[in-house]
Amino acid sequence: MKLSKVVAASAAVLALTATATACGSDNKDDSGSSGGGKIKVGIKYDQPGLGLKQPDGSFSGFDVDVATYVAKELGYKPSQIDFVETKSADRENALARGDVKFIAATYSITDERKQKVDFAGPYLLAHQDLLVKADSKIAKGTDLNGKKLCSVTGSTSAQNVQKTIAPKANLRQYSGYSECIAGLQSGAVDAVTTDDSILAGFAAQDKYKGQFKLVGLKLSNENYGVGIKKGDSALEKKINAALTKMVSDGSWDAAVKKNFGPANYKNEQAPKIGAIVK
Ligand code: GLU
Repeated sequence: MKLSKVVAASAAVLALTATATACGSDNKDDSGSSGGGKIKVGIKYDQPGLGLKQPDGSFSGFDVDVATYVAKELGYKPSQIDFVETKSADRENALARGDVKFIAATYSITDERKQKVDFAGPYLLAHQDLLVKADSKIAKGTDLNGKKLCSVTGSTSAQNVQKTIAPKANLRQYSGYSECIAGLQSGAVDAVTTDDSILAGFAAQDKYKGQFKLVGLKLSNENYGVGIKKGDSALEKKINAALTKMVSDGSWDAAVKKNFGPANYKNEQAPKIGAIVK
């Protein structure tokens, strides 16, 4: 009896201490991040200029900078971020399972995805385009019918091709865009399709210099959002506030310049929170 009272009392003290720590930790989003004050964030690993894991294990790209800024506003230093790869087809499940707290991975806000996850943002507007060999004659979407085209499973790009852009294209779907780019270089496919932001990043890589060209078609509007678990409206609000601040304090422009400048990618202006371009 006596012992269990002591245990109960210490449990109460512990609970109080935990509450005090949570309150005192300056805006820290601790709901679910129990592992030593770390936050797990989903990004792409193979998209230069957006989300790239470097050979030395560090990360770079616009999405990485957005994620780092958002995490900072949630109370996490860069050293407290654990980046996790979230491929296009895995994103909804990664959020539903709680593998990651949020995702910044060229993740377009769509009605279909909103059935399963919620989004903060948008924070960038991109457009679907085609990447082809520098001497290719492909000049418009319908030129793809009968051609070998590559995109990624679970992406809006693959869906748009099948539904509207070129339903008769011979579409191959890989798990990441880097595999498509390798296919374009080897001649296994005639074109790669996804967001212009992503394609520009690949085309600008030293190893591909002069080999590819973007066709320059705005085949869709891709409103990039920060994906979160469905129903977490408190987190959505905090992330929207972080994105608004990122734009107003100049960090958004700086990240655009740093990450898209080398690829010569002409981005659209920063979107307003909640302003989805259909
Ligand atoms: N933004 C598009 C999407 O969310 C294509 C890029 C990607 O696969 O991440 O599906």
